[in-house]
Amino acid sequence: MSYLVFSLRVIATGLLAVGIQLASAEVTDQQIDKLLSQMMLQEKASLTSGASMWITKPLERLGIPSIKMVDGPHGVRHPSEGQFGKSIPATCYPPAVTLASTWDTNLAREVGSALGREAQSLGIQILLGPGTNIKRSPFGGRNFEYFSEDPVLSGQFSTAYIQGVQSQGVGVSLKHYAVNDQEHERMTISAEVSPRAMHEIYLRPFEMAVREAQPMSLMSAYNKVNGTYASSSEYLLNEVLRQQWGFDGIVISDWGAVDDRVQSIRARLHLQMPGDGGINDKAMVAAVESGELPEEELDEVVRSMLRTTLALHEDSGRYASYNQDQHHELARKVAAKGIVLLKNENNILPLGESDNIALIGNFAKVPRFQGAGSSLVTPTRIDTLVDSLEASFAPGYDLMGKTTPALIDQAVTAARAADKVVLVVGLTFIEESEGFDRSSYGIAPGHRELVDAVVEANPNVVVVLQNGSPVAMPWLDRVAGVVEAYLGGQASGSALADVLTGRVNPSGKLAETFPEKIEDNPTYISWAGEEGKTRYSEGIFVGYRYYDEKGIKPLFPFGFGLSYTTFEFSDLELGRSALTDNDGVSVSVKVKNTGSRAGEEVVQLYVRDVESSVRRPQKELKHFAKIMLKPGQEKTVSFNLGKRDFAYYSAEFGQWVSESGDFEIKVGNSSRNLPLQQQISLSVENPPKRLYTRYTLIKDIISHPIGAKLIEDFMNNPFGSRKPDVERSMTEEQKVEAMKWSIVIEAIIADMPLKQLIPFSGGKFREEELEQLLTVLNQ
Ligand code: BGC
Repeated sequence: MSYLVFSLRVIATGLLAVGIQLASAEVTDQQIDKLLSQMMLQEKASLTSGASMWITKPLERLGIPSIKMVDGPHGVRHPSEGQFGKSIPATCYPPAVTLASTWDTNLAREVGSALGREAQSLGIQILLGPGTNIKRSPFGGRNFEYFSEDPVLSGQFSTAYIQGVQSQGVGVSLKHYAVNDQEHERMTISAEVSPRAMHEIYLRPFEMAVREAQPMSLMSAYNKVNGTYASSSEYLLNEVLRQQWGFDGIVISDWGAVDDRVQSIRARLHLQMPGDGGINDKAMVAAVESGELPEEELDEVVRSMLRTTLALHEDSGRYASYNQDQHHELARKVAAKGIVLLKNENNILPLGESDNIALIGNFAKVPRFQGAGSSLVTPTRIDTLVDSLEASFAPGYDLMGKTTPALIDQAVTAARAADKVVLVVGLTFIEESEGFDRSSYGIAPGHRELVDAVVEANPNVVVVLQNGSPVAMPWLDRVAGVVEAYLGGQASGSALADVLTGRVNPSGKLAETFPEKIEDNPTYISWAGEEGKTRYSEGIFVGYRYYDEKGIKPLFPFGFGLSYTTFEFSDLELGRSALTDNDGVSVSVKVKNTGSRAGEEVVQLYVRDVESSVRRPQKELKHFAKIMLKPGQEKTVSFNLGKRDFAYYSAEFGQWVSESGDFEIKVGNSSRNLPLQQQISLSVENPPKRLYTRYTLIKDIISHPIGAKLIEDFMNNPFGSRKPDVERSMTEEQKVEAMKWSIVIEAIIADMPLKQLIPFSGGKFREEELEQLLTVLNQ
């Protein structure tokens, strides 16, 4: 019996058994309760782990179907029967790194819905993606699977992608939750991160996607976060995800990520994947029977499993097929729009029709168009640059990225004979993949040798890069053009030809900073951890936030990308000049195409808190929009800024907090090119109230009238002694000596906790006074 027939039969039996009409109505709580009441303990446990690698266990007796899930994220990786590592051909879209470089969330939605259609055609209920971890370092082995170093860009792309997939009746699994930003020791490492960085940077994209797109499932990460396995963390899985953000789907473990199954049930991890032959199911039953795990906790998990399973089957099997040609064209469009033009000296690009071109580099023939690991897709076809561009060709290096004197000679000869050289190099699967982090910042060594030889032979070189994360470019000054093509999916070759020849005007922007050297990256010293811990010592200063703060000039900044035309930004206007935290403010800006070609531009809006009680970045991306403009055309782009756009995550208050004061709104087309700026003043109506305790520092009550008085009294009689009142009779030297002391004492007192007043007041300030003081301060 085929899987599809089997599932349909199981569903049909289930509908009859419980009288649920899935297609017409949502599954109600009563229906779930009824199902639950009919289940034996073993049956409940069986629903919380996989039957095999990609399928959950059905419960035929009650008509509960299984869920079928496959990777994601940039293509549907449905395993081929009996062929290890092989999968059924599916469209290989550009991976997240390239998708995000489009800065066009409509494309993410389009790709998502195409993926949803392909998944539907294969009877899949959950696609394992998108990945929305943050790129802390160019060394991250899976950077190609993630969107950005910036949480807002990552969050907006995740949201649109999820909306796309789920619009087709297929669920997603947003991964890897959370703080899973490296491959080194990925199954045991503990990411040591401050609450502020965790919420502001690492959890933020998950939060945005959960709140705005309601993913059907989320995948918990392999690693520990501050010492607790993500799959066991009640804080992450229950408190933050469910209670604070309102997530009501299921949490699936990354494959093999469960450490302690009973604890993970308490934390609300619903599904352990893959199956372990029932070992943990038995452990769970035993835990309930011994009273270690209250059955209600398991029931909660099973309830969510039932609700999600039935909901996922509501729309299952909607399409029998999809249009491969159309999906390939979409892959080509996205790949072209994700290409970032980094350098274009003397307009070497676009290539002219009469240019005599040498195309050098084996990637032009055997492109590197996706990353290796669980996301590896078998494409439906592959467009190569060799087939898409008229040029003479020399491979320059072999499939492993290695070169030889003979290959170099051949490439040099081809370069000498050409007007212009298109040289395709980058990183091979040896340098970057899931499973390990990168260990060197340069392009593949063989590629580097080739670049050095080719630029000697012909200065008119355009380097095209195929890679999943930033690389060093010590040869930058010696080449005329650089095109960052990233990993372009199965249509990477034709998409590249579109951009190189000018059929498509490049409009991609970097979703990450390219440091000049790896030592400039904020994680350089702490990467990738030692003794089981990886310290996020840069805090919130990730990516451009760090380079800005340190005044380091990157090789190419976040948000940067050139076009074959030019744009001008003007007339930045704010809807108001002052606001409270309950208002929003509209922002509008005009953008004009001042060149002679049609093109797209990305309008980027950043916010800076001018003065704040905690250290905040020089600027943070809050909104962006991509627009198409014909030559001479001008458009107005508008955004709305809301409360969160001004806030930071306060560890003290355990919530997002905005502070009254001035903020700068900066607009432009890269994080380092923001020509327009306006100031707005925010007044916060109900700031969170600080609770004063015996550990509150004296300096923190100085602005309070009572605090100020207390300090004054205390300064007049520090440490129980009398303040010298003999200043008039003092010599200059004695005065200087006294001043030294008073400076020291003032500083020491400022940093003293209130409780310290007791031993240092010479008996004048006692426990009772402290209690009274705290009562008054807290009123
Ligand atoms: C990866 C996940 C993937 C899963 C299933 C894991 O090793 O971390 O991203 O979805 O395998 O292939």
